[in-house]
Amino acid sequence: MGEFELIRRHFQRHTQPQPAQVVLGIGDDCALLQPAPGHQLAISSDMLVQGRHFFADVDPAALGHKALAVNLSDLAAMGARPLGFTLALALPQADNAWLSAFAQGLFALADTHACPLVGGDTTRGPLNICITVFGELQPGQALRRSAAQPGDDLYLSGRTGEARLELELLLGTDWAQHHTLPGALHRLRPRLERPTPRLALGQALAGLAHAALDLSDGLAGDLGHILHASGVGATIHQALLPVAPDLQALPEAQRLDCLLHGGDDYELLFTAAPAQRAAVAAAAQTSQTPVQRIGHINAAPGLWLLNAAGEQATLSPRGFDHFG
Ligand code: ADP
Ligand code: MG
Repeated sequence: MGEFELIRRHFQRHTQPQPAQVVLGIGDDCALLQPAPGHQLAISSDMLVQGRHFFADVDPAALGHKALAVNLSDLAAMGARPLGFTLALALPQADNAWLSAFAQGLFALADTHACPLVGGDTTRGPLNICITVFGELQPGQALRRSAAQPGDDLYLSGRTGEARLELELLLGTDWAQHHTLPGALHRLRPRLERPTPRLALGQALAGLAHAALDLSDGLAGDLGHILHASGVGATIHQALLPVAPDLQALPEAQRLDCLLHGGDDYELLFTAAPAQRAAVAAAAQTSQTPVQRIGHINAAPGLWLLNAAGEQATLSPRGFDHFG
């Protein structure tokens, strides 16, 4: 199977009617996309590298899902609507069974969000998946990291920590194995391997929320990016953090580590004016996404954790850094 046969067989779909925004899809030197009149393009790339972002034996369908999900999550965090994506793929060999499972996971998520594959590149090499997503939004409505204001409420979609706990279970870490209920390894697997991009919530928050980002490297560390870009500080109320059932039995230090420094959560963290509480609740409702107020933004820099006893402690925003 040559390169073009591989693309034709696994990635070019003739059956699907193309969505209206795709003027030209796979097959020419460029794809042509048509955003709605007056809209801006939102563009983001994310690369997944074997050994760094996933294990060699990972389910290829889950990998296809996750490769697109982490990119769609960036569009969600900006408040954008997906238009399409490209896929640059390096493969050690052309394995049909692997490729069709990968494509199935990829297209199942793409179809859910009407986000078609419009082009890419395919080459031989160590397994490496790079996706670029294109989205659209109205000028002035993007949810920028620099837009948090003192007095804003701080919100989280869903809950954090389960992907991290699953990773510890896969690695066989002692505390994870001894303080979780039977079946956790199996139950939490989708939280690590099949994150849900919060696109409907992101679009409902566009023009309403102030700052937003999606959580990939841990709540505290990623919140640090908003604080730095906006020149503000924040207080997280520990009692307001949603705790998944599988995290309940962990020793407190490890539970907090999962909640605040977990990584791979792909939830939205955002700020909004207190006057918008009803509007934020309505956005959560229309997008059918759980949203919880977990703290607030301060004028003074610094990140604080307020515990149930009312004591404040500084929280180090240590996120994951590939070169740290
Ligand atoms: P070029 O040489 O002009 O870069 P290629 O020969 O690499 O084009 O690719 C041929 C067509 O197939 C292009 O339209 C390209 O976008 C598309 N394509 C290549 N690889 C992929 C892939 N992995 N997924 C989707 N489309 C792809
Ligand atoms: Mg090419």
